[in-house]
Amino acid sequence: MDEPIEQQLAEVAAKASQCTACRLAQTRTNVVFGEGNPRSPLVLVGEGPGEQEDATGRPFVGRAGQLLDKALHDAGMKRKHVYICNIVKCRASEVVNGRVRNRAPLPDEIQACLPWLDAQLTIIRPLVIVCLGAPSASLIIHKNFKILQERGQWFTSRWAPAAIATLHPAYILRQAGASFQQGYQYLVQDLLAARQKVIELRRLQEEQKLLPPNEEGQLSLF
Ligand code: SF4
Repeated sequence: MDEPIEQQLAEVAAKASQCTACRLAQTRTNVVFGEGNPRSPLVLVGEGPGEQEDATGRPFVGRAGQLLDKALHDAGMKRKHVYICNIVKCRASEVVNGRVRNRAPLPDEIQACLPWLDAQLTIIRPLVIVCLGAPSASLIIHKNFKILQERGQWFTSRWAPAAIATLHPAYILRQAGASFQQGYQYLVQDLLAARQKVIELRRLQEEQKLLPPNEEGQLSLF
């Protein structure tokens, strides 16, 4: 019999915490593997850890994380209802004028880290993935994803029957005034659509009697 998925994930996370497969290992404080409900049918995948995440080892705990929490709340969910991770598990940073700042992960870093994300999503087997930002969508949905044109649309993914992309909360925070409001509205709208999609897919599974017995951790929210 297979090990419980919590244990499977913990074993992969323990191995990832020792990973030195790319240059980001040299500057990280913590590997940020991911957290949340591993039995959730809904997984959110961002780009990579920032300063706060690197310091704490937890995903989305900085300002972008707070905005994501608010958007989840406005879409009727909490963190305990979802699982959250990133496409790269270590902070990508650079020194500019003597200050360390975040940078986008490079393509070879994303590829080096892919086995961890693959293992994670293969264990969780979500019904719906929400990609937070273009790099996540380009990896999970299709190459050259155009976030402003294609966000809010449904796709399939090798890791889930349904995947959608939305704006990254950090991108929204860089907007001002009406652009910020519009970006936030898109984020909430896409999270709501993802929640609805889970409900729809679970209903379909029930009709086809494909739904596994209700396991501890499967939340009535969906
Ligand atoms: Fe390993 Fe990924 Fe960290 Fe690179 S970013 S060292 S591949 S865990």
